[in-house]
Amino acid sequence: MLHQLQQIAFMGFFFLLPGIIGARLAWSKGRNPFLWFLLNTCFPPTLMITIYQGPVRPVEGHYRQCPKCSEYSKWRDSVCRFCQTDLIA
Ligand SMILES: [Zn+2]
Repeated sequence: MLHQLQQIAFMGFFFLLPGIIGARLAWSKGRNPFLWFLLNTCFPPTLMITIYQGPVRPVEGHYRQCPKCSEYSKWRDSVCRFCQTDLIA
């Protein structure tokens, strides 16, 4: 019984946790959280892709799009990290 519980905890830690983290990250980058939850749960190494990929659209509270070069910067940044254009006008 204890052994089974340990197995469930192990599975939860190594598969469900990356899935939940991945879904949250994907959501903050304007991507489909359900798709990335499934992908990260089935293949935990794909969490690295979720972490390093850029956003697909501006997401309030997470990413801003530069009006000049259309690159994305973190929401807290006041100037574009690519062309230094003022983002908060
Ligand atoms: Zn820019």
